[in-house]
Amino acid sequence: MEEKNPQPTICPYCSLGCGFYLKLEAGKAAGIRYMPEHPVNEGSLCPKGNTVLEVLNHPDRLKYPLKKTETGWERIEWEEALDLAAAKLKGSLEEYGPDSLAFLGSAKCSNEENYIFQKIARLLGTNNVDNCARLCHASTLTGLGKTLGTGAMTNPISDLACSECIFVIGSNFAENHPAVSRRVLEAKEKGAFVIVADPRMTPTSWLADLSLRLVPGTDVALLNGMMHVIVSEGLVDREFARERTKGFAELENVLQRYDPETVSRITGIPSAEIIKAARAYARAGTAAIVYSMGITQHISGTDNVTACADLALICGHIGKKGAGILPLRGQNNVQGACDMGALSEFFPGYGKVGDPEAAGRMQALWGAKKLPESPGLTATEIVGAAGKGKIKTLYVMGEDLVNSHPDSSRVKQALENLDFLVVQDIFMNDTAEYADLVLPAASFAEKEGSFTSTERRVQWLEPALMPPGEARADLEILFRLAEKLGLDFPYRDAGEVLEEISAAVPAYGGIAKERLKKDFGLIWPCPDAGHTGTPVLHTDSFMTPDGLARLVPVEHRSPAETPGPDYPFLLTTGRTVLHYNAGSMSRRCKSLLKREAELYVEIHPADARTMEIREGNKLVLESRRGSTKATARLTERVSPGVLFLPFHFPGTNVLTADALDREAKIPEFKVSACRIRRG
Ligand code: SF4
Repeated sequence: MEEKNPQPTICPYCSLGCGFYLKLEAGKAAGIRYMPEHPVNEGSLCPKGNTVLEVLNHPDRLKYPLKKTETGWERIEWEEALDLAAAKLKGSLEEYGPDSLAFLGSAKCSNEENYIFQKIARLLGTNNVDNCARLCHASTLTGLGKTLGTGAMTNPISDLACSECIFVIGSNFAENHPAVSRRVLEAKEKGAFVIVADPRMTPTSWLADLSLRLVPGTDVALLNGMMHVIVSEGLVDREFARERTKGFAELENVLQRYDPETVSRITGIPSAEIIKAARAYARAGTAAIVYSMGITQHISGTDNVTACADLALICGHIGKKGAGILPLRGQNNVQGACDMGALSEFFPGYGKVGDPEAAGRMQALWGAKKLPESPGLTATEIVGAAGKGKIKTLYVMGEDLVNSHPDSSRVKQALENLDFLVVQDIFMNDTAEYADLVLPAASFAEKEGSFTSTERRVQWLEPALMPPGEARADLEILFRLAEKLGLDFPYRDAGEVLEEISAAVPAYGGIAKERLKKDFGLIWPCPDAGHTGTPVLHTDSFMTPDGLARLVPVEHRSPAETPGPDYPFLLTTGRTVLHYNAGSMSRRCKSLLKREAELYVEIHPADARTMEIREGNKLVLESRRGSTKATARLTERVSPGVLFLPFHFPGTNVLTADALDREAKIPEFKVSACRIRRG
């Protein structure tokens, strides 16, 4: 371990990859020092980053391997634990075949860990390997993939400071990616026009010059309506559309149906505001689109993202500084976990499973005889297959399925149905309670490896601390497991794995440990050792086979479940500034819990009046899947008829539905039908 004090590190929560220093005392994390020189956060940290010491030093950290017995958890030695995991994996493989196995990787783990994780799965003969990107931004991969050729943020966050117009749709970055606000404020100071489309009024809406409060699930209609105005008013960048895209005529044809009056009826936004937004975006010299899970977590998630790309393309707002499409990812390494092929349909570097050439490349690199040919099950499908008894052994690295997947009761039933469940994590979580074997992992500050932020910035993390007890780095656990499975893995450390990654993933071709340690990493594509990275994508050509972007028309579709007489409220879910994902880390921070301790539900005062609900009342919320309790917060942030629940507490996903986007297989967390009563 390299001794530095304070030790530079990267925040383990959201995808911005903010840097800071850990101050060490007697081998413990004792303080935080800000890092003003970091290009993304320039020293600032949000409440989660500021309280990360509470996670590192928490007494609940898992310290020893644990085996479930009839009388409870029994502490066992690593050797026994890994023998057991390997024996169960091999047992299922021999008895039921490779597709009885499934592996869920983690967007909290490093690139090297996810790469090795999916390599183990594929060498055992299954593509049933996925990660939690399936729950947040799988539709970014499918939507941007089919239009631009790659599902990644096109421009760095700092570019926003020079945008003349910023169109935000389905993102509350002021709370959830706070460092983005600084750049948007910089742009506003220079005169930028900011449009925020969101069903809720949020702190991000307060930054808006034009706030569009749409009915949840009507994003495609809004985007098509804006494009209708742009086409009919002659605001299309004809030269860009002609020279760099295909499919304009087909798009134009579909857009005819989305005149502002029709779109106003669907979205609830006055037609004059749709026209104003369209003109502001199209007429700006440089305009950027920022989006997040507000548009991705729908059955039309892929269509929502596709329509964002169409909008940017017909205006020529892509491939230059201050423009582009900026999906703000969720967890700190969502981008990297996907780049590494911890996805059921892609090998590392996005070679398609089922494409013999892509499979051949990986086979040659790995010295494998044959890799499985058909796409595996996605994270959401793995849960369904476990419920039906088709998955026998599941290995989960760093994810709490029970609280992060929709319909928690169905997830629990699926986990109970498994023959064997391994959970590898830093804390015991609700999923680990169903495990047969729990393996204690090192946290971000206790291991080395690379992480790729939402702006494609690959940064290297050095260990600052020793893991507690006998906890080990995920990579070390996987190396030992692979050995016990009889796989020939010659690596000694993360640096050597990264060397193989640079051969497997063309965009990482020039990325190496020593280069990442300097200057806050490299932004991919970085194809060779002499390349300095690519902050802006698509400057000359798109990443499609012929270099042209595809304009793909999409149509508005209603959500899978809409309110009706039995369930009259529309329930939507999202994040808050104080907690993160399923809360496995943030709900262990006393200082965050002091400010937000329990599940609450936002309800409009008019609905509350009708139902005689007062601020602070305990409510029971019921959907077709189950019921949960929450405390009432009366607020005009939500519209009448809409309820909002943060998803950081157990209970929220008891209510949500498992309807999936047909391409990305992402669940529709953002819309379900619900009813409430006083508890
Ligand atoms: Fe930065 Fe995100 Fe961490 Fe907050 S949670 S400090 S915005 S990386």
